[in-house]
Amino acid sequence: MSRAMEDQAATRRRPAVPILLYHAVTETPGTHIAPFAVPPSAFAQQLDLLLEAGYRCVTFGELVAAEVAGRPLGDPDDGRKTAVITFDDGFADFATAALPALRERSLVSTLYVTTGWLEGGRDRRPGPSDRMLDFAQLPGLLAEGVELGAHSHSHLQMDTLGAAQLRDELVRPKELLEDVLDRPVTTFAYPHGYNGPRVRRATRQAGYENACGVRNVLHCAGEDVFAVSRLMLRRTTTLDELSRWLEDVECRPAGRESWATRGWRAYRRARAVARRRPGSVYA
Ligand SMILES: [Zn+2]
Repeated sequence: MSRAMEDQAATRRRPAVPILLYHAVTETPGTHIAPFAVPPSAFAQQLDLLLEAGYRCVTFGELVAAEVAGRPLGDPDDGRKTAVITFDDGFADFATAALPALRERSLVSTLYVTTGWLEGGRDRRPGPSDRMLDFAQLPGLLAEGVELGAHSHSHLQMDTLGAAQLRDELVRPKELLEDVLDRPVTTFAYPHGYNGPRVRRATRQAGYENACGVRNVLHCAGEDVFAVSRLMLRRTTTLDELSRWLEDVECRPAGRESWATRGWRAYRRARAVARRRPGSVYA
């Protein structure tokens, strides 16, 4: 490659941002969450790998705010590789296992809680057998720099819900969290990552500014801020796999939602109608 071509490639180069998605961090998960629970020792190794690979972490809100302002983090001008660490559901081990490991390494994170699953809340919903965080712990987490977001109230598949229930699953957790945190809650994570144009529109209308899906691909600036891609860490995820995700890869133009994804959503919606209740992994 000539020097001119190298220079041109460097200006075009736009590193992708890994947004990691964790659930429970424990050696003793309940049956349902077991495939997605990472042992504390593996979690610590993964955080060390992230730091060794030269990443700095920001909260999800900070990442999106920089992109909306037209100064995406991780750009060549910015000079540093950026990653985001997120947690879904609100397992109690976030406070006892994940946070101490993050604190030790001065890493920030974003935690999305299912408000109907938390201890100390009103209108509890059926959930995992594992211990969940208590509402009373949330202000303390916020004070430690943890960004808090909503992950619905009942953890249903949002794209199978009717309009009224969809709105309730968006508005109720926002109000409950804002009451306890005494500040606006502007970020949402779709349960199971399931969303579509109707769900994204309702999320925006409910007052959120951005939202996470899953997709298991790296995030690039320019992606819909209401369907941001994350990479799900599982019990079986190896350090080699994580290492491959963390390699400094270039962003490519975003692809459209695949026909397989759309077909799967149509199937789940039809099944929810047939059962006369919304689908959920835990129900
Ligand atoms: Zn979840």
